[in-house]
Amino acid sequence: MQVTLFGAAREVTGSCYSFETESTRVLVDCGLFQGPPRLERYNFIPAAVSPRTIDLVTLTHGHLDHCGRLPLLVKAGYRGPIFATGGTMDICRLVLKDAAKIQADDARRENSRRERGEDRVEPLFTLSDVDLVCELFQEVHYDKNVRLGSDLSVQFVDAGHILGSASLVFTVSKPDGNVKVVFSGDLGQWNVPILRDPALIEYADVVFMESTYGDRDHRSLEATLSELEQLIKSAITTGGKILIPTFAVGRAQQVLFHLAEMFRSGVVNPFPIYLDSPMAIAATEIYSRHVGLMDEEARQLNLSGQLRKDLSTLVTCSTSDESMALNSVHGPCVILAGAGMCNAGRILHHLRHSLDDENTIVLIVGFQPRGSLGRKLLEGDSEVKIQGRMIAVRATVKGLGGFSAHAGQSDLLKWLSPMAEHHPRVLLTHGENGPISELSRQIKRRFDITTEVPRLGQPIIL
Ligand SMILES: [Zn+2]
Ligand SMILES: [Zn+2]
Repeated sequence: MQVTLFGAAREVTGSCYSFETESTRVLVDCGLFQGPPRLERYNFIPAAVSPRTIDLVTLTHGHLDHCGRLPLLVKAGYRGPIFATGGTMDICRLVLKDAAKIQADDARRENSRRERGEDRVEPLFTLSDVDLVCELFQEVHYDKNVRLGSDLSVQFVDAGHILGSASLVFTVSKPDGNVKVVFSGDLGQWNVPILRDPALIEYADVVFMESTYGDRDHRSLEATLSELEQLIKSAITTGGKILIPTFAVGRAQQVLFHLAEMFRSGVVNPFPIYLDSPMAIAATEIYSRHVGLMDEEARQLNLSGQLRKDLSTLVTCSTSDESMALNSVHGPCVILAGAGMCNAGRILHHLRHSLDDENTIVLIVGFQPRGSLGRKLLEGDSEVKIQGRMIAVRATVKGLGGFSAHAGQSDLLKWLSPMAEHHPRVLLTHGENGPISELSRQIKRRFDITTEVPRLGQPIIL
């Protein structure tokens, strides 16, 4: 029995594990590397993962860094099943289609820039590759045992990260007893709205565990929400716009949920909310189709129609004309627009239009990489360049730290703790060196387990 990592080894993107038993070869995730070109050059299917040798794929969730190489896998000839929860199937379809469109646009732009006679660039994959991926989906339900091979079965359990997200608990039957191998997938925080908490797993012999935020805890949701409330009250007083650059899947729905809560409890009077992102609109529809995957509170609020009632001032903007029309709208209002990292998308024209207004509030609710526009705003730059123009920053810019979809250090340790009692092998993945070493130190201190940190392509014999 062996596991090999083809991504997310000492870094956070490109998740892809090959897991081989006597009878079966499974891929756990097949994600895209994202970020600098040095990583993106890994965006291919390595020869060691030849589709002819893969029996099946299991998918932990629909983020691009977990599903983005699936179209490459089908392009290379894979036609076996892809097991995923219903929520993941829908989110994966949305995310891959969006990525295919962006790649087609990028390739078109690059080709028009190139001279005649130069090589043409091709998108990594197209919409028809994505359609092929979707045809291979097989829906699985949480907590049900799914037989995968003569010696292998799997259980998907809730990971509390985004809708449909799962940790995978594999059981391998061997002559001398069963072996349990767990892949955490991406883990969420406890006590966030909409999602259920990550499921605690009682026993494992081997654990592959994400460590994105292994070195720190997030700000508490309570403190984050009380800051959000203050900022909203101040925007109501000044009549300012609140601009929230937002990730379409997960974050947008969570922010809407909190705004609905504030309206319902009467903390603030309802004001217009503009969801200015076709992808976030589609993701919100997916969420509302899968209320069965939500926590009890969110399920009730959806089923009773209360959430819709609370959000009666929500306006969705599908077309770019609708988006541009928001430039002439006055506050108080909230505009949720992509992209979450302020690197592209409609948020750019909102920022360009409103950053020089001292009544504008920009709320940064997600991670902003170094050098990005969002990071520059957070660092207090007094002028920023947007779409080729220098814009003075007079707006208030605030980072609200508590909305992460990822478990912080304490939640990671909490997740591991029931399994740790039985002293499993623990291998840390999906994290950079700093967070990995800190998490590793904590696991040694708390549970007396020495963790391992696998390298890309290195077979791990179990
Ligand atoms: Zn994720
Ligand atoms: Zn991830």
